[in-house]
Amino acid sequence: MAAEYQSIRKEIAGVPVEKLATEFGGTPLFVYDADVIKARCASLREFGTVRFAQKACPNLAILKLIKEQGVKVDAVSAGEILRALAVGYKPEEIAYTADIFDDDALELVTGKAFGCVVNVGSPDMIYQLGLALGDRADGFELTMRVNPGFGHGHSKKTNTGGPLSKHGVWFSQIHQCVQTAEHFGMDITGLHMHIGSGSDFEHLAQVCEMMECVATAIGSRIKSISCGGGLPTPYHTGEEYFDVARYTELWHKSIASLEASFGHKIELETEPGRYLVADSCSLVTKIQAIKKQEENVFYLVDAGFTHLPRPMLYGSYHPISIAYNPVNGGPTKQGTQEVIVGGPLCESGDVFTQEEGGVVVRRELPFANVGDYLVLEVAGAYCSAMASNYNSKFLAPEVLIEGGVPRLVRKKQSFEHLIANEIF
Ligand SMILES: *Cc1c(COP(=O)(O)O)cnc(C)c1O
Repeated sequence: MAAEYQSIRKEIAGVPVEKLATEFGGTPLFVYDADVIKARCASLREFGTVRFAQKACPNLAILKLIKEQGVKVDAVSAGEILRALAVGYKPEEIAYTADIFDDDALELVTGKAFGCVVNVGSPDMIYQLGLALGDRADGFELTMRVNPGFGHGHSKKTNTGGPLSKHGVWFSQIHQCVQTAEHFGMDITGLHMHIGSGSDFEHLAQVCEMMECVATAIGSRIKSISCGGGLPTPYHTGEEYFDVARYTELWHKSIASLEASFGHKIELETEPGRYLVADSCSLVTKIQAIKKQEENVFYLVDAGFTHLPRPMLYGSYHPISIAYNPVNGGPTKQGTQEVIVGGPLCESGDVFTQEEGGVVVRRELPFANVGDYLVLEVAGAYCSAMASNYNSKFLAPEVLIEGGVPRLVRKKQSFEHLIANEIF
């Protein structure tokens, strides 16, 4: 099935846009639809374990909702481990995946979060963990992220394998890692490969083959295999939704062949971030100015790359729709025009309609007036999560709609909160 995004909308998950925009702290406002998140979680039932890569969208209410769907969680920092614990995940339901330990993370995985899965991405981590665990290292089981020597990703900045990628243990160092672990009495019982090839099935077949090779080389101590995240979400109308069945079929084949040669069951894990949340969310903004410069029309809105940084970082495309503000009484002109959509920041890159390399492009959007709402869609993954306080902009409030009822799940940031840690 292909995605279809509309250029005019009245409501989000059954709630009028103007109601959302006025009752929860104003715009910009992130609005999440719980039903979409639940459906995405349910669609991955074919996997033994589904783990949410919370870095895509770490709001506690979203995390709790995802936990209630029986999904485990991945954490890439001390803060993310603490978020997982805060919503009630047990340590054994949390995986810490990283290429280093910082002091905070090492203290947590050997202390308050002891028992969480440690997924190491460098030989140094094994050594540091062994030392920190001391007597408790004996019998400790680790998983290891492998860099198979090739990668895949939608931009140079999101490529996750190959000799220039910092992620994972380089394939020729795997044996050294096994030995280091054994030196401390620890064992590597799981493998992990996050390459991000969810939409490219030829490449995926290559990944499965490589995983089989690595697992075979390490031997029957392997009990779990994680194929990482990277499951795609369509951002353009006409793009196909992810083919879960085809994806799992390839993996199940590899797992079955390893199970046959090892003589025991192997747990297949997937670790999506984007897929579970991306199209559950819209960023509602308000058009504050409309400017015309020669042939270019600008819709300037009250959200910037401080709220939604993906276009500025990667030239990413987000569908955009207009929601007319009832106080404006609808459009003064029917039809569409080509516009550039920009934000409020003192930075020329603060444009939502741009392509990779910062090339500003025009988008065909309905005629609109100052005061109408402009909705940036498919804004659930790596949007709010990557927001910043640049220009001292306040982080946007967030609302979750469940069963037609919207509720505030993050307040608009206050000035007091913005400066809370500053000393003068
Ligand atoms: C970012 C990340 C993911 C999730 O990636 P998506 O493309 O959002 O699915 C999964 N696993 C690890 C280790 C990651 O770093």
